[in-house]
Amino acid sequence: MEARLPFYGYSEYLQKKYGTKVYRIAVDGGFSCPNRCAGRQEGGCIYCNEQGSRASYLDKAKAIEEQIRRGIAFTRRRYKAELFLLYFQAFSNTFDKVENLKKTYDAALALYPFRELIVATRPDCIDSSKAELLSSYIKPDFDVWVELGLQSANDRTLERIHRGHTAAQYKAAFDLLHSRGIKIATHLILGLPGESLEDMLASVDFINALHPEAVKLHDLNITYNTELYNEYLKGEVTAPSRELYIEYLIKVIEHLRPDIILMRLTCDTYEADRAAPRKYMAKGNIYALLQKEMEKRHTWQGRLCPATS
Ligand code: SF4
Repeated sequence: MEARLPFYGYSEYLQKKYGTKVYRIAVDGGFSCPNRCAGRQEGGCIYCNEQGSRASYLDKAKAIEEQIRRGIAFTRRRYKAELFLLYFQAFSNTFDKVENLKKTYDAALALYPFRELIVATRPDCIDSSKAELLSSYIKPDFDVWVELGLQSANDRTLERIHRGHTAAQYKAAFDLLHSRGIKIATHLILGLPGESLEDMLASVDFINALHPEAVKLHDLNITYNTELYNEYLKGEVTAPSRELYIEYLIKVIEHLRPDIILMRLTCDTYEADRAAPRKYMAKGNIYALLQKEMEKRHTWQGRLCPATS
């Protein structure tokens, strides 16, 4: 019998659900972000560069059809995969009129029998008509997920990093989506400027109370050409080292409800774009290191979660 991991990983969830390997096909739908637009915080979140959370392998120049065709061909060739999830990843993928969103989602979904629709966005890009549209795609065998950026539940930090929303606004968008059956993955960054471990654990309490289906965690990355980079050059901020990030991760996971899926533990910053941390770990390695460390300490996800103890 296979030994259980000390945390609830995304591959475990997908394997249980589909009985085989399933892969995301990430696309850039050509959306922008309200937080980067004129009239809002200058330049958006202080850690945002022009990639806007776009994975390094995405090519904005290509039409969605081409991105999907290439993504599927590549993933099939490399992993012999057959099941795919459609993932709108870059910027804020509900930042448009509902009729335009519908056209984009419909066109992409028509290209392949995807098993899920996943849309990354911000709380201020959700309203009831957008929640309605997203929920209209749900079927008994087809889930819709929204990856909703929170990053911290501390309003002071949200202001410090120019997120352009509060924790209360996050909760309102979350409740709207959840009440329509949309599954949610909450994004949280560990090591944000001015945050202590206690602040991060307070964000975990906030998340536990909301109870999303999944979380995505990553360490603070400082990329060139950002406001954060300017602060870094002046010695005002730094990014957690690999060792410190593992410590943060263990504490956060120990406090997180055991039924919340860990959808991701790293981010896809281009190495050439990243000023810090320089010493970095590939996705697979971080899972392996985390598992080893947690087993060594005889700890597991939810061990210190007040909601379940
Ligand atoms: S929400 Fe995302 S795309 Fe928008 S400014 Fe922040 S990091 Fe950039």
